[in-house]
Parts: sequence; structure tokens; C-alpha cells
Amino acid sequence: MTRPTPEPADPAPPGQSPATPGRRSAPDFDGPHLLSVDVEEYFQVEAAARAGVSPRHWADYPNRLGPAVDRVLAALADHGASATFFILGWVARHEPEVVRRIADAGHEIASHGMEHRMLQHLGPDPFRQDLADARRLLEDLAGRPVLGYRAPTFSITHATAWAIDVLAEAGYRYDSSVFPVRHDRYGVPDAPTVPHRAVGPGGGEILEIPPLTLRLAGVNWPMAGGGYLRLFPRRLPARALRQAARRGAPGMIYLHPWELDPDQPELPLARLARFRHRVGLAGTEVKLRWLLARFRFTSVRERLEDLREQAQDVYTYGQGAGSAT
Ligand SMILES: [Zn+2]
Repeated sequence: MTRPTPEPADPAPPGQSPATPGRRSAPDFDGPHLLSVDVEEYFQVEAAARAGVSPRHWADYPNRLGPAVDRVLAALADHGASATFFILGWVARHEPEVVRRIADAGHEIASHGMEHRMLQHLGPDPFRQDLADARRLLEDLAGRPVLGYRAPTFSITHATAWAIDVLAEAGYRYDSSVFPVRHDRYGVPDAPTVPHRAVGPGGGEILEIPPLTLRLAGVNWPMAGGGYLRLFPRRLPARALRQAARRGAPGMIYLHPWELDPDQPELPLARLARFRHRVGLAGTEVKLRWLLARFRFTSVRERLEDLREQAQDVYTYGQGAGSAT
């Protein structure tokens, strides 16, 4: 295993080697950051669902997940990093060998629900069932308990805060579904940007690990992954990781295997959706490897006890604009 290089004081301009590390005073947090992979096929994204690609059409599209997951696993192995893989129950059912390869490589297997339906389309009882179905399939393949959950399309918001109660009641140890940003489809802009204790409207509590944002000009800018990570110059997520460290917390990065598969078939997407889905696909693997070379990353499972201990902020979801205590 390669030892990861320590992060530089300042990221180098693209194409140049990093600056000499260690000239800035030590950050408050020097542990590894968190890396997550949302494991779904390219045709299961929310943009495809909105364009009419529903589960009954999924068989019409070729599966391409296996080779893309292998590229992610190779990048992690090259840098001695581990990650949390939030996997769809559908993938566990239809492509179980992919889940086994991830588990065999020592990474954490967590849940991304069954069929990538946003929580506002499920409601509490179907969500309870969805969670249980996915968990059974994933635990059978992983051979160990599933501890964490990420909602499809970060769909835990004030409107779906009941999901926090359901997750707590089902015994999940953590959640990573609340994006503390303003967005047209998701987000809780005033939620804490560091790991915190999330409380649902029914009083259920769970450790919430929000995806990485950069605080700039009074606004939380999404930096954690997906189209943002592909679109923005890499110095911005690097800056957001250092900002999180100064706040004493790890940053949570996410990516999808399909983002490392620029040759995937075209989906019938509208213009903006197509841009969001395809921008920067050819550069994702380079960017991932760049981050892996400069920062240390691990899975939530490896850090869970520390994270629980350090999460002091309590934030209650589901109360209009929400309330921090
Ligand atoms: Zn997803």
C-alpha cells in the first residue's frame, strides 16, 4: 500500500506538483477525511427518472457498474485509502458480485435504499420497508451489519424529516443524507455543515454526516462530489477540506462509479440535466486520484466512535426553517 502524501499548505495550480507541505500551523483536525461512493447504475439517477426512465425501463439499458467500480477500487488501493460504499438494494439483487468485490476489498458496505426513490415519493411506511429490504440484501453479501444510510438525491429535508425518526428506530448508527445548501431539489441551507446530532420531529436522534461544503461570502457552496466536484477546479474542494479541518471535523466527499465511465450510453435527458450528468466525466478519475494523493481518506465505519463523540451540535429537523440548540 502506498502511503498518502500529506496535504500541501496550498494546492498547486493544475498540472504542477504540490507546494512544499507543512509551512502552515497545524490544523485542529489532522485525522483522515471521509470518502463515500454511491453505488448505482448510470440510468438510475434522479435526472433519468425525471426524464421518464423508470425501473421498468432499467432492463433496456446495459449494466456498466462492475468495471466502473473496479476503477474506483483500484484508485483506493493505489493510495491505501478505504471508503464507505452506499449501495442500492437493486444492485445487491441484480449485480451481487459487485457488492462482494467491494466488501472483499475491506470497504464499508452501507445502504442507499432499494430503487433510488426520493423520500418524498415514499413516505414513512414504505421507507421503513425499503430500508429493511435493502439492508437484508446488503448484509447477506457483506457478512456484517449495515450501520449507515444515504438517501437517494440527498432527499432528507425538513419536509422528509420523519426519515430521521425511522432511521433511529431501525437502529442505524449514522446518516449522510442532508446537504446543507440551497438547491432546487434538496438541501437544508441552515443545517450544520459538520457532523452533528440530528433530531427528527418524533424525537429520534442519529449522527448526521453532511457532505462537504465550502463557506464563502456567507454561502455554503456544495463541494462534496457529483457535478460540483467535476465542474469546479480541484483547488476548491481542497480548500473546503482544509476549512473543515480547521473547524475540527473531517470533510465528506462522494462520487458515483458512473462518473468514471465517460463512454456510458446517452440517456434521454433535458439540456440542463444532461449538462449536470455529463460535465467533466472524462476528468473524474484524475481528480479522485489527485485528492487521494493529497489528503487521507477513510470510511465512516473506521471513524464512527470518534465522530459520535465529537458531534456536539444538536439540530432539530422538520420544524419549518429548523432550529439549532
Ligand atoms: Zn444515488
